[in-house]
Amino acid sequence: MAKNKLKVEAIERGTVIDHIPAGMGVRILKFFQLTDKNERITVGLNLRSGDEAKKDLIKVENTVFTVEQANQLALFASEATINEIRDFAVVNKYSVQLPESIDGVLRCPNSNCITHHEPAATRFYVKQKPRQTDLKCHFCEKSFHTTLFSELN
Ligand SMILES: [Zn+2]
Repeated sequence: MAKNKLKVEAIERGTVIDHIPAGMGVRILKFFQLTDKNERITVGLNLRSGDEAKKDLIKVENTVFTVEQANQLALFASEATINEIRDFAVVNKYSVQLPESIDGVLRCPNSNCITHHEPAATRFYVKQKPRQTDLKCHFCEKSFHTTLFSELN
């Protein structure tokens, strides 16, 4: 464990997103526009954690996620854990959980959907299946695999 911790610099205050599946770290950075915040971000890709599969890890300084924001990460990293750091110590740690719905952050993949033509906040219902997660649009009622989504803006 100590050896793994040395690979990524410790932060004084902020959030560590751990146990992201390898390959999803970059997607999460982009999707949640973490790099737009101007805070220092440390990213570890393809880290090894014991016998587990490789993982990615993201440390964002001076940023605390709400539980609602953190749960949106579960779309890409259902096993992720959130560690809130203060004075170099973990003061709060929890696992993300898929929310029932995701409001306002996703663009509907269906270009005929009314949300593309009228200013409406998007809403998607999370449908968990054994091996994948689909999101169903509140407006056009179509279901899409999570990989089909892009963020707003
Ligand atoms: Zn739609």
